[in-house]
Order: sequence, then C-alpha cells, then structure tokens
Amino acid sequence: MQTIFYMSLKVKRIFYLSVLSFLIIMNIGVYTAYAYNDDGDMGCVWENPTSVEYKYTSDTSSDWRNIHAESVVKWNNATSKINMSYDYNLSTPNTFGVFQENSNTLGRAFVYCKNFGTSDYISSADAGLNETSLGQPGTSGTYDDSDRITVAMHEHGHFLGLGHSDYYAVMRDPYVDAISAPTSDDLAGINSLYP
Ligand SMILES: [Zn+2]
Repeated sequence: MQTIFYMSLKVKRIFYLSVLSFLIIMNIGVYTAYAYNDDGDMGCVWENPTSVEYKYTSDTSSDWRNIHAESVVKWNNATSKINMSYDYNLSTPNTFGVFQENSNTLGRAFVYCKNFGTSDYISSADAGLNETSLGQPGTSGTYDDSDRITVAMHEHGHFLGLGHSDYYAVMRDPYVDAISAPTSDDLAGINSLYP
C-alpha cells in the first residue's frame, strides 16, 4: 500500500507578513517530544538519508534548477544527518521541478511512503515550485530569489519527511519572511526523524 502525502504552501504577502496555509490529504503520526512541532503531518523517512538522490523534471529551466540547487546546498550544509545529490540518470522518480498554476500556492511536495506503518520509509518524493505565482528567478516583485529559495527549502523539508513548524523555521506555517538557511527548529525536526 502506498500512502500519499500532499502538502501545499500558500502565501499571501502583506508587506513583510506572509500567511501560509497547507492542505493535507492524509494525516499521519504525531510527534510531540521536540521543540519542532510537526502539527501531526510529519512524514515517513528516507532509509538512507545521507544518500538521497534527485533529478529535475524536463520542463525545469536552468534558473529554476539553480533555485532548487541553492536550497539543496543550504540543507546539506545545515546538517550531516541528510545529504541530497543530483543524479541525472536516477531511475526512481524523485523529482524537483516547477508547475504553473494561477493561484497563491507557492510550492508543493509529495511524499510516497512504502509499507506505511511497517517500515515508514519513503519510496519516492517530489517537490515543485509554482513559477506562475513566484515569478521568474532573477526578477524581483512580490518575491525575489531569497523568497524562492526559502520556498524551495520548505518543500525540500517536506521531501525529507518534515511537517510544519510553529516556530521560526523554513518549515514554519505560516512563515514570516525569507530565511537564509534551515534554523535550529528545522534541524530539531531532522534530528527527530533521523536520530
Ligand atoms: Zn508546507
């Protein structure tokens, strides 16, 4: 049985304040032991978290690949517990990419769990950024590249199995503004998933 988790990131920005909501089709186990608060939507985990490989969807431009790649570097530098790397020939469908949707949804992540409740391991996951709502990399309007990278870090956090945080974190929901790197609260979430 495959369990599909769907999470979306919606932001309506009013000056420096953003309000974010998310949709969860299926709820999963609750963790409460950490400062990180998963709101009950923390996902399953990678069996080998230091060798998680991804590729890009074919419609992802080099500019958007760079946004994803910057997020990957920030995550990889923030903790030794996980490492994501690009593999052009990757056979499993772990994809980073873009989508086009005329809405205030900024990004989405999908996490597919195999044997949920037994192994709790991720079989594959995907993360996408809404290029319609975020605007193109290199441009500044409602969002600039630091915002786009923050959204990528948020979706990649879901990709790694994280849920939402109530604290200052890229996984915060709602989140306040662009964050330069995963925070101590994000890392508490990682440490709880990958002890
Ligand atoms: Zn989210």
